[in-house]
Amino acid sequence: MITRHNPARVSEVVGTLRETPPTEVDRRVRAADRAQRDWSARTVAQRASMLDAAADAVDPHLADLAVLLARESGKVRADCAGELRFAMIFLRWVAGRAPQVLADREVDDSTGRLLLTRKAYGVVAAITPWNAPIILAMLKIAPALVAGNAVVVKPSPLAPLAIDRVIGLLASTLPDGVLSAVHGEAETGAALVGHPLVRKVAFTGGLQTARHVARAAAEFATPAVLELGGNDPVLLLPDADLSAEPMRRLVMASFATSGQVCMAAKRLYVHRSRHDDFLAAYRVAADEVLCTGDPLADGVSMGPVISAEAVRRVQDLVADAAGRGGRVITVGRADPGTDLAAGHFVLPTLVDGIGDDAPLTATEQFGPTVPLVVYDDIDEVVARANADELGLGASVWSADEDRAFAVARRLEAGFVFVNTHNRTGMALRAPFGGVKRSGYGREYGDEGIVEYAQTCAVNAPAAFRAGGGGAPANAYPQ
Ligand code: NAD
Repeated sequence: MITRHNPARVSEVVGTLRETPPTEVDRRVRAADRAQRDWSARTVAQRASMLDAAADAVDPHLADLAVLLARESGKVRADCAGELRFAMIFLRWVAGRAPQVLADREVDDSTGRLLLTRKAYGVVAAITPWNAPIILAMLKIAPALVAGNAVVVKPSPLAPLAIDRVIGLLASTLPDGVLSAVHGEAETGAALVGHPLVRKVAFTGGLQTARHVARAAAEFATPAVLELGGNDPVLLLPDADLSAEPMRRLVMASFATSGQVCMAAKRLYVHRSRHDDFLAAYRVAADEVLCTGDPLADGVSMGPVISAEAVRRVQDLVADAAGRGGRVITVGRADPGTDLAAGHFVLPTLVDGIGDDAPLTATEQFGPTVPLVVYDDIDEVVARANADELGLGASVWSADEDRAFAVARRLEAGFVFVNTHNRTGMALRAPFGGVKRSGYGREYGDEGIVEYAQTCAVNAPAAFRAGGGGAPANAYPQ
């Protein structure tokens, strides 16, 4: 049994779910495999309109789901409501876009007749993390289903309750077996990924887990999409706007969801000449927007972290940075109505005066603390930003947009934000994913839909068509 406690009040049980034994994972994948045949025989337009109807089934429950998600994950209510709303927007966007993106393409010309079709893989195994359980599952479910695949999702046991209900609501409108969830820890995920009838794996999570997932998928040469962690650098160019509004945006880019976001702003690079101005402006903005407390309390903008282990990890990183001479600056305020000792709370901090070698700068902190480091020239900061083995997101802040784009081109990151960072910088049409050890494959955009379809070709060479002159046997085309 999976029992989920509220990270803001650890003694409170939010809910329980039955763990799925490996034998049942097998049954679920076989049922998905059977259901997929009829599902993929429908047209893209038919599946898209069924997904629109599935979204309608979730809508009436969004407010309740936001509260459940806040209680199980520790994310503030507005954050949860926004995630759910955005997941539904994404689902409908995919349904609207897919008929065009997945359409057959046919040419008939002097080279011959060529038909390109987009075929489903079969059963997709989706393995998702806890930090944005709804949208990260929807990024896989919507494009996979519209392309004609069946999907079995294994959410993280750290936040399985709201996504289980969303999947149940969606599935209630779809043919049996096309969409389902299995629950459990690594063993359940491994049983799913390693199943011989799974034809594609879509994984979001950490690099260590990704190694196991990629190895298990390799057993049957199953293709995988891997969306992994990041250590996103923020490059504030010397002409960056340090006024209140962009500074508030930058603060939330690091501290939304208590910093537990793959594409959070994780390393702040500030030009030496602007260090003091930046620090002063950032502190004012952070004190204004950050209020730590119960995710359901009014006015709270930052909740607890997910677990006691996460508290320790973040505290260790900050203590190490302090030991290296870093100045630890606590920012924001605590909600007076919340008993912080009852939950996994860590007050947000900015750490000034450390270098790139401190673990707080060199690794993904995945918590409410961010290092402020100085640089002297653009080539140097680009090299330092690129020195990390991770390459998920990055941002460039400048009053000159062309200059920002020119610097952005030089960054080793799958997604570069300009004058913003994190979710405010996303676009439905913009593919998202990592380079280097942040993974491979893309979500969002047309690429995120095509990810779940294989291009298959039918070709009649001109030389062998009726009336064609023929060509020597066993010759390459001219
Ligand atoms: P995690 O890697 O611990 O777990 C992810 C999922 O994998 C969970 O469902 C877990 O139960 C499952 N799992 C664990 N072992 C498995 C195995 N052997 N086989 C199959 N499944 C297994 O990640 P987490 O702690 O839940 O999430 C945090 C990480 O995810 C961070 O590194 C974060 O940056 C990353 N992340 C990346 C993105 C992105 O889009 N790139 C988005 C969100 C989070």
